[in-house]
Amino acid sequence: MLLIKCPWCGSRAETEFSCGGEADISRPVEPASLSDEAWADYLFMRKNTRGWHRELWNHSQGCRQWFVVERNTVTYQVAGSSKLVSPATPTLQDNESRAD
Ligand SMILES: [Zn+2]
Repeated sequence: MLLIKCPWCGSRAETEFSCGGEADISRPVEPASLSDEAWADYLFMRKNTRGWHRELWNHSQGCRQWFVVERNTVTYQVAGSSKLVSPATPTLQDNESRAD
């Protein structure tokens, strides 16, 4: 089981959270101008990274806030979490040393 640190509540068991998928996906500025292929790419295509990756989590059994977690998809190690200051540039609060 993962131990995830909510930026508002502290460390809690994984069962209190819901994963929202890959972080840092920018919504197109003018969605109506996109082709069907480009819109489908935005909606459905994800990197599926092997190793360190950033993803959105919701503390659904607690404060219900969304935040970013940096997690290794191979080892399940969690490097840190951060509030959603800006979807493109959140800052990790507690970077721990990690091996890539
Ligand atoms: Zn929380």
